[in-house]
Amino acid sequence: MEYSKIISSCYAGDALAKLESAQKLKQDFGAAMLEHPDIVSQITVVKEAAAALDLHMAEMEMGKLCTGCAAKPGGGCCSVYMGNENNDSLQLLMNMLAGIDVKQVCTDGVECCFLGEEGCILLFKPIFCLNYLCRRIQKESDPEELHVLERKTGILLGTQVDLEQMIIRFLQQQ
Ligand code: SF4
Ligand code: SF4
Repeated sequence: MEYSKIISSCYAGDALAKLESAQKLKQDFGAAMLEHPDIVSQITVVKEAAAALDLHMAEMEMGKLCTGCAAKPGGGCCSVYMGNENNDSLQLLMNMLAGIDVKQVCTDGVECCFLGEEGCILLFKPIFCLNYLCRRIQKESDPEELHVLERKTGILLGTQVDLEQMIIRFLQQQ
């Protein structure tokens, strides 16, 4: 498939259609991508940035806030709409290359299909999901901790964008 068609297929459809496109990309190019030294080393950099952010979020006990929302009528933020709109195939592919078993884990038609029992199954989350800071979190968190959260989120986003650009350049050369 030519490059422009590959890229346009990455952003088309709902989350499951994007998952299918990502699976096709992995099948066609995954092995070669995992032999590309720059891509492999950038995956490690993104994993480290994601781990640093996860640790900080755990220290802030953000999971407790979100679990509280999820237990209320209307649920939390990870709706099926968010899952459909925020994801794209390149970001799902990046998760697959990092060894995540990306698949539909929620079928209730209400919540995002990637929302598992213990939260989002994606190691590298969509930009909007990462950037979202609700009023509850802003109000109930320590300002200094929030500042660190924003800084670590920015670092992770930068590393994810760099990895995405490497994958795009790889696809352009096919
Ligand atoms: S991000 Fe905020 S609104 Fe969304 S589930 Fe968590 S605490 Fe609730
Ligand atoms: S954080 Fe994960 S589970 Fe939540 S909407 Fe985003 S992709 Fe879906």
